[in-house]
Amino acid sequence: MPDRLKDKVAVISGGSSGIGAAAARLFVAEGARVIVADLQEPLDQRLADLIASEPDRIQFKKCDVSVEAEIVAAIDAAVSAFGKLDAIVACAGVPGMGAAVDIDSDHWDRTFAINARGVFLFTKYAVPHMIEAGGGSIINISSAFGIVAGPHFAAYAASKGAVRNFSKSTALDYVGHGIRSNSVHPGYIDTPMVQNIVNNAPDINAAQAMFNSLQPGGKAGVPEDIAWGCVYLASDEARFVNGAELVIDGGLLAR
Ligand code: NAP
Repeated sequence: MPDRLKDKVAVISGGSSGIGAAAARLFVAEGARVIVADLQEPLDQRLADLIASEPDRIQFKKCDVSVEAEIVAAIDAAVSAFGKLDAIVACAGVPGMGAAVDIDSDHWDRTFAINARGVFLFTKYAVPHMIEAGGGSIINISSAFGIVAGPHFAAYAASKGAVRNFSKSTALDYVGHGIRSNSVHPGYIDTPMVQNIVNNAPDINAAQAMFNSLQPGGKAGVPEDIAWGCVYLASDEARFVNGAELVIDGGLLAR
């Protein structure tokens, strides 16, 4: 079914890499116009080519989600380039690894500034535009570790749990304006974030085996597995989906 997002305008944070980049490509393929908001220009070459060739449909806006003014600017960029805002995918995130005793308060604050506060601020500044547009879809990328914990992910799991319940609060607060808010919970997905963790581990093979062992099928998903869920949540097909947790994890949480 093509054009599932025809005439919709979206901002995707963390859209230069991994899951966010796949979402940006699929949103455009399904007819949306998109602002990719990220710290860095796209790592994903297919996305970089799309931005270079289709500026009427997709643009890059530099944005550090830990800086409030840059979030405001990214959302304003969508409204000024494309006239309105229908959807946000709050995907920017950092892994924040370590157990409680091993991490310090700066690590905790930094993880929360990006993974939780950044998500809050995207919603805060998107909602008034969505009210003006008559509704919208807020898609917050949490994690399987936003529902259960994993060892050595203390700050990460806490921040992703915050995203899960914040998404539900928003779902209740703005349902009267036609705004839906949902969280997405990926399992282990093969992206630069995970590749960096594995490559920087003292024992690369052991780290890879640890990630593989999380998945019942023994291997990671790909970014598109999550991005299609975001397409669904942004589309009118999901018009009655609000305050939900969309788990896309290859069975990780079924154990
Ligand atoms: P990724 O490939 O590293 O993509 C994340 C993007 O966010 C990168 O472009 C990154 O830029 C950007 N980013 C980081 N900090 C930012 C900031 N302060 N402001 C703006 N952009 C920022 O990672 P991914 O695996 O696709 O992860 C996307 C989301 O899915 C994250 O929220 C992650 O927690 C979640 N998730 C991933 C998995 C998985 O297995 N991959 C599982 C569950 C949940 P830099 O590269 O410059 O840092």
